[in-house]
Amino acid sequence: MAGMDEKLEGIYSDIVRRNAGEAEFHQAAREVLESLGPVLAKRPELAEMKIIERICEPERQVIFRVPWQDDSGEVHVNRGFRVQFNSALGPYKGGLRFHPSVYLGIIKFLGFEQIFKNALTGLPIGGAKGGSDFDPKGRTDTEVMRFCQSFMTELYRHLGEYRDVPAGDIGVGAREIGYLFGMYKRITNNYESGVLTGKGLGWGGSLVRTEATGYGAVYFVQEMLKARGETLDGKRCIVSGSGNVAIYTIDKLQHLGATVVACSDSDGYVLDEGGIDVALLKQIKEVERLRLTAYADRRPASRFVPGGNIWEIPCEVAMPSATQNELNGRDAATLVKNGCIAVGEGANMPTTPDGVKIFLDAGVPFGVGKACNAGGVATSALEMQQNASRDSWTFEYTEQRLAQIMRDIHRTCYATAETYGAPGNYVLGANIAGFIRVAEAMVAFGVV
Ligand code: NDP
Repeated sequence: MAGMDEKLEGIYSDIVRRNAGEAEFHQAAREVLESLGPVLAKRPELAEMKIIERICEPERQVIFRVPWQDDSGEVHVNRGFRVQFNSALGPYKGGLRFHPSVYLGIIKFLGFEQIFKNALTGLPIGGAKGGSDFDPKGRTDTEVMRFCQSFMTELYRHLGEYRDVPAGDIGVGAREIGYLFGMYKRITNNYESGVLTGKGLGWGGSLVRTEATGYGAVYFVQEMLKARGETLDGKRCIVSGSGNVAIYTIDKLQHLGATVVACSDSDGYVLDEGGIDVALLKQIKEVERLRLTAYADRRPASRFVPGGNIWEIPCEVAMPSATQNELNGRDAATLVKNGCIAVGEGANMPTTPDGVKIFLDAGVPFGVGKACNAGGVATSALEMQQNASRDSWTFEYTEQRLAQIMRDIHRTCYATAETYGAPGNYVLGANIAGFIRVAEAMVAFGVV
């Protein structure tokens, strides 16, 4: 990727110094700063107002103790986080991640990305992220419930439909949102539907929210291909992960005529040349909460490759949808060599900086996460709209809204990249377009 001018290098050095040991946050900040040189050249007043320095400093960071008891009575102590990064465009909005790898640097990278992603949706939402180093894997429903209740007992005081509205992320799905909402409702004695998104359909949730991130990512890839006179029909695809984003990415790709031949979890990948059976995948992951090996056990035509590298499988479209830094420079080179013609990031920052550079240099359309996976948070904002008006929309209407938002995000990123002299570079287009929208609101508010 492009280097940075001296002023931006100075800002970046300060970020590294002031946020020691937070490698993922440094990486996310660097990627955005590398795009902003041309903006500062055109808009020197943004530098004078120190908008970049202010955007890179969270408005508020909360870290708290989460004690809970497992089913045998043993006491555990986890750490909870909520980073309220930027509220220039609306209430803080961003998911909660429960995964043992969670620490402040991961929550800050995710919260930082969320500012620009939310701005790109065009909807009135600020940026935030939260979570815990709690590992839900192997825990019973009652253990997850007690953890969620303890987590919310502290978090509730920082939330509100006009203040901060969390949703799910890795390890946080409909079950966890249910326990979190139940505890919030009990503590506050308010039925405040708009305080969490990703709720169940019977109690304030929105149709299409479950599918939204995956479906939206596929719409974005569809637009990137369309801009080059291509379609998804008949394309051979790879989707990493097998969680919420991966499942509905696979679902929509195959609905549009592509064949997804592999998906993965942290133990390896499953190869299914006939195309992943989405109904079976949902049964195993969403209903029975089993590992991906169970898929291969039940579908003889497929096989599970323990510890295998999914990016070595030849494909035309790759959609990394598991976690950060899961696709490195070597993987990107392999994909390009094997004939990959488009990459869409369902996960947040799944491609390492050297991987991104390889795709950009090779001219492979690269849908950066903050644009490509924005359909999830956009539909969360649609859920908030429905809650505010005490209404619920049909699946068709909500999906049309999602599809239109994704087309608009694509158009914005594409046009911005052209305006700033980097046609086809969605990384630059997304960073600049998201930044400008937030920056203009911050300028209007004065130094606050
Ligand atoms: P889920 O918890 O539903 O699924 C996560 C999947 O990724 C699982 O298959 C998991 O495998 C795999 N995974 C997680 N960590 C690792 C790891 N360290 N190495 C290898 N595989 C891993 O999460 P989501 O599908 O919701 O989230 C996936 C990605 O999409 C994340 O980057 C998230 O931030 C991003 N995202 C999610 C949105 C949403 O609406 N849910 C919105 C926008 C972005 P295993 O079971 O083995 O851990």
